[in-house]
Amino acid sequence: MSAAVTVAPETLARYEPVIGLEVHVQLATRSKIYCACPSGFGAPPNTNVCPVCLGMPGALPVLNRAAVEMAMKAAFALNCEVRPYSRFARKNYFYPDLPKGYQISQYDQPLAEHGWVEIAVDGGRKRIGVTRVHLEDDAGKSLHDGFKDSDRYTYVDLNRSGTPLIEIVSEPDLRSSDDAYAYLTALKQLLRYVMVSTCDMEKGHLRCDANVSVRPRGREKFGTKAELKNLNSFRFLKMALDYEISRQVALIENGGTVVQETRLYDPDAGETVGMRSKEEAHDYRYFPEPDLVPLAVSDDWRRRVLVGMPELPAARRARFIEGYGLTEYAVEVLLATREMSDYFEQAAATSGDARAAANWVMGDLAAALKEAGKDISESPVMAGQLGELIALIGNGEISGKMAKDVFAKMLATGEGAGAIVEREGLKQISDAGALVKMVDEVLAANPRQVEQYRAGKTAVLGFLVGQVMKASRGQANPAAVNELLRQKLA
Ligand SMILES: [Zn+2]
Repeated sequence: MSAAVTVAPETLARYEPVIGLEVHVQLATRSKIYCACPSGFGAPPNTNVCPVCLGMPGALPVLNRAAVEMAMKAAFALNCEVRPYSRFARKNYFYPDLPKGYQISQYDQPLAEHGWVEIAVDGGRKRIGVTRVHLEDDAGKSLHDGFKDSDRYTYVDLNRSGTPLIEIVSEPDLRSSDDAYAYLTALKQLLRYVMVSTCDMEKGHLRCDANVSVRPRGREKFGTKAELKNLNSFRFLKMALDYEISRQVALIENGGTVVQETRLYDPDAGETVGMRSKEEAHDYRYFPEPDLVPLAVSDDWRRRVLVGMPELPAARRARFIEGYGLTEYAVEVLLATREMSDYFEQAAATSGDARAAANWVMGDLAAALKEAGKDISESPVMAGQLGELIALIGNGEISGKMAKDVFAKMLATGEGAGAIVEREGLKQISDAGALVKMVDEVLAANPRQVEQYRAGKTAVLGFLVGQVMKASRGQANPAAVNELLRQKLA
């Protein structure tokens, strides 16, 4: 369905894409950034509003301390320097869902700057510069459908007006759509680790615009860039960038020139469409916000926020690889979210077997959660309970096979492994007396196989072990049964 631009791969290879991303992230504060209205999703339209976020003349904004602290946490996670002084600025433009006629943003003195994010590409790691992180308020929302008059009217919901945002601007360090994808993935992971946003793209908590240009490989000077808007999923980001890179290369190859403009990505058509050119571009007439004093971040405040920072993925990665002896692949899977890696660590600690814990978390648990459509934070089996189950296998009380059944019961009931094993009498039989009796019975019942074994056909041992396991309803300790049978048959 993509309206592909046809460019030969060898032609495309002669050009180098240059990409920078501007990412808007909704902060998970309880109230809005400049007033005390609740900030959140799902309330009936226009109910979480007050004169400040409705932009009434004379209403005065008051900065939300929690929003500043979350923005600082994000900035630290992105290795930025938080400025001791930053300033708010009015960004003026008209839009029907922006009643003030301006956003209160930051311009020449942003909250934080000069950071970087490490991304994983082509089996290696690379640093992408972060130019700045600044605070601003979100606009309201225009609703174009879902109402009975939607064919004739657009509705405006101002609940979102005043929701705190940070804008994270990257350096033009990305060189492919894969780089951009990896950068956005790393950004989302970091912001979720420091718990400043859920980064749910479907709910608009993470929104992304991209600046894209191409230049002949080896040339230093950047080409003319286009700004892509509406990249509201990871998949669309990649598709839009690939389309736009091909479009610009084709244009240049055919003797044309790229013009600086804003382009919208149309996911249905699979193409980007020109929206406005440079001549029509906004001049926001920024000026310092007269209703807010500059923001001063004291050393003491900075220290207190730093102390509250959790361990970040890079530090955790090193610790997991060295401390637990896990493969790099396992570590990446377990590090995907803070909840997942916390869960793993607790299961590893309770069970005393980190590798087994990693296998259970990535295997049986992940499969069960996927089937139930649940996140690990909603797991019916707590990390400590999984650890207990793994410990039961480790000390030989239940077999690995029985553990799968016990795990299924834990998922269904939320009960602990020990309680289920105890109640259902599932404890593995390792007691020599009980096993000897069963082994003797099986040997007596299968004289032909015993003869075969003694004649050198040792493969029948497996059959005999199976018979004992069957007689014990799966509760015999297979290793002990093996050992006993060998002794008796010798
Ligand atoms: Zn309000």
